[in-house]
Amino acid sequence: MLKICLESGDEEILLEDLQALIETEGEMTYPIIFNLLANLKFSLEDATLHWHQLLVHRQNLLNQIKRPMALVTVLCDYLTTQEDFGINPKLIDIKSFEHVIRTSTHDGLTGLLNRNYFQDTLGHQLAQAQRFESSLSLLFIDIDDFKEVNDSFGHVAGDSVIRKVAKIIESEIRQSDLAIRYGGEEFVVLMPGTASIDALVLAERIRNNIAESVLVTDAGDIKMSISGGVATYPVDAKNKEELIYFADSALYLSKGAGKNCISVFKEDKRRFMRIDVNEPVRIRPLDFNSIEEFAGNSKDIGIGGILFESSCAFELGTKVQLTIQLNNKGPTLLIGTVVRVELTEDNLYDIGMALSFKELDKLVRSEITQVLIKSDKTIDKQR
Ligand code: GH3
Ligand code: MG
Ligand code: MG
Repeated sequence: MLKICLESGDEEILLEDLQALIETEGEMTYPIIFNLLANLKFSLEDATLHWHQLLVHRQNLLNQIKRPMALVTVLCDYLTTQEDFGINPKLIDIKSFEHVIRTSTHDGLTGLLNRNYFQDTLGHQLAQAQRFESSLSLLFIDIDDFKEVNDSFGHVAGDSVIRKVAKIIESEIRQSDLAIRYGGEEFVVLMPGTASIDALVLAERIRNNIAESVLVTDAGDIKMSISGGVATYPVDAKNKEELIYFADSALYLSKGAGKNCISVFKEDKRRFMRIDVNEPVRIRPLDFNSIEEFAGNSKDIGIGGILFESSCAFELGTKVQLTIQLNNKGPTLLIGTVVRVELTEDNLYDIGMALSFKELDKLVRSEITQVLIKSDKTIDKQR
C-alpha cells in the first residue's frame, strides 16, 4: 500500500495518502517511509522527528522556488543540507538500484542466493536456532565429475547443468529453507528448524531427482549426479565454523564412497575412524627459518589426523608438512599441526598431527577417504 502511494506521481496526493496512512497504521509508518524513499534505516524516534522536520523543510523550499518539487528531491536536499547525516546520496534509477541490491545477494547464473548472503545470514540463522532451541541443518552439495561435463559438452552446457541442478534444489526445498550457490558447482541448503534425519530425507530427494534427470542440450543428453554432506546444529556442531566444516567433511565422505550419495556427519567417524598404515614419512616444520626435514614412520591415519613415529620431538602446536605414500600415484602432501608428543619405549616419539582441512586440497581428502573406505581393517581408536 505504502509503495503504491510513493509511486503515485502527484506529490500533493502522495502527502495526503501518507498522512492518511500514518493515521490508520500508526507511527511505524515513519521509518518505513524513509526506508522506501531512501533505503534509510531510522529508529522510530528519529524517523518521527525527521518526518516532521522534512515537512517543514519542504514548505520552506516550496515558498522559495515557487514550483512543485518531488518529495525525494526535498528529502535529498534535507539530508544533505539540514543535519550531518554522514551520507552521500547518489542519483540512481530505481530499477538499477533494485538490480544492484539483487546482484549483491543473488547469483547471476542460477538466481539462487550467493555466498556473500550465506556468510551474512548463517550467524543470524544460528542465533535464531539458539534462541528458539531449534535445529539448523546445513547440506553441502557438489556436482559429481563436473569437469568431465565441461570437457565433453562445453562450458555452455556446463552452465545449463548448474542451472538445472539449482532448479531441482529450489523445487524440492521448503519455503523456509535457503538455497545458495556456494561457488562453481557447489551449493548449500540451509534448513532452519530441521533435524538431521529430516535434512537427510530432503537431501536424498534432491539427489534422487537429479540422478533421474537427463538434461537435453545441443551438445547432447547429459546425465548428472551430486554428492552431499549434512551437519546439524546443535547435535553435531556448536558454531558456524563447525557447521560448515562438518557438512564439508560429510560431503567428502560421500565423494570417497563413490559419489551420487549423501552422508550425514558423524563425529565418531571423523575422530575415531583410523586405519593402521605403516609407511615411511618425511616431515618438515613449516617455519621459514627451518629447512630441515625429518624422517619417520606412520602408524595410523584418519580423515582428521595422522600418527607417526619420529626421533624428533616436535613442539606442540608446530605447523608441519608431511609426505606419505598413500597409493601408487606418488607421495601425498599433508599439512597440519602437532597436537600430541609422547616418548615411546624405543626412545622415539609418537607424534599426533591434526590435519588442517582448510589447507588440505580436496584430492588429498578423497585420497585419505578412499584409503579408509577400502580398508577392511578399520579400527576404532580414540586419539
Ligand atoms: P568431483 O566429482 O570430485 O566433484 O569432480 P569434479 O569434476 O566436479 O571436480 P571439481 O569440483 O574440482 O570441478 C569443478 C569444475 O567446475 C572446475 C571448474 O572448471 C568448473 N566450474 C566452476 N564454475 C563453473 C561455472 O560457472 N560454469 C562452468 N561451466 N564450469 C564451472
Ligand atoms: Mg567442486
Ligand atoms: Mg564437483
